[in-house]
Amino acid sequence: MKVLVTGAAGFIGYHVAKRLLERGDEVVGIDSINSYYDPQLKRARLRLLEEANRKASPGYHFIHGNLADKSVVDGCFADHAFDRVIHLAAQAGVRYSLENPHAYVESNIVAYTNMLEACRGSGVAHLTYASTSSVYGANTDMPFSEHRPADHPLQFYAATKRANELMAHSYSHLFGLPTTGLRFFTVYGPWGRPDMALFLFTRSILAGEPIKLFNNGNHTRDFTYIDDIAEGVIRASDNPAARNSAWDSSHPDPATSSAPWRIFNIGNNNPVKLTAYVEALENALGRKAVIELLPLQAGDLLDTFADTSALDQAVGYRPATTVREGVGRFVDWYQTYYGRG
Ligand code: NAD
Repeated sequence: MKVLVTGAAGFIGYHVAKRLLERGDEVVGIDSINSYYDPQLKRARLRLLEEANRKASPGYHFIHGNLADKSVVDGCFADHAFDRVIHLAAQAGVRYSLENPHAYVESNIVAYTNMLEACRGSGVAHLTYASTSSVYGANTDMPFSEHRPADHPLQFYAATKRANELMAHSYSHLFGLPTTGLRFFTVYGPWGRPDMALFLFTRSILAGEPIKLFNNGNHTRDFTYIDDIAEGVIRASDNPAARNSAWDSSHPDPATSSAPWRIFNIGNNNPVKLTAYVEALENALGRKAVIELLPLQAGDLLDTFADTSALDQAVGYRPATTVREGVGRFVDWYQTYYGRG
């Protein structure tokens, strides 16, 4: 199996690529190594992928390039014939999108369109791509089920991800490209993102600085451990939606053709209060946090809670890691990488 993993220097992309290499797949990784957060952390992840490749030697190739540049994407697909594509590169982050919308248009709309076009023209059997729990927006019915409407995302980031889902539908419907969108729910774990709460809280607690809990700490989040996510992404990618045998590219008929298009939640199905997440972190660090309680921020979701039954039914997805275990493993990694502060 030859798999393209975009965003391979990123948090989730690195873990997915590593797992694929370890099981013996051939992996091509691509990433712009942008400076949204510390590029050194991204380069360190890439060094570990080189190492995983040396141990398992199934074949790994990395391309440093921007997917918003069509010639980069076309060149990549001209040089390699992929069985599967796992598209995780994107401009992530909810708050950053309030001030920097153009970065989201470049990476989440222009780059994504280049990927759809390349997959359409290349005979890739399945495109799996990252969406987000944020698409549920103002919809507060719990748990979030894929059957609930997701047409009113609040943040611009979420709007671009919802657009990705709809763009995938068009390509699945018109061109028969099997696509699967995965709505991630607050992923955390070793090699995590420095802009995310767990990382920020850890750094502040170790420095004796206050941590900020918005909405007075009353948020709940369906925090999902990275190993559970990586396993779920690979299972989903391994199992494309079947192409409809009646599908006809010259006469796509909405009445008869069911597009090979799927959307799944990929969360933990077990929301935890933010204050309990902080307690797990305090226990793992052996230090108390200085907590600053702040009001709700514009665009923030109050709670997230993934109904994961659809992904479980489709590919046997069962997240197994508790917040206590996962936060402990994050802290072990953090203190190895950055020292005990
Ligand atoms: P990340 O920022 O660590 O990884 C994304 C990678 O994509 C980065 O290394 C970045 O350099 C690369 N990239 C961005 N734009 C690019 C471009 N135009 N060309 C090439 N490379 C580019 O983020 P992550 O946490 O690993 O997220 C992976 C995916 O999952 C993203 O699509 C993100 O929106 C989505 N997601 C993540 C979470 C989470 O909790 N981590 C939650 C919901 C959705």
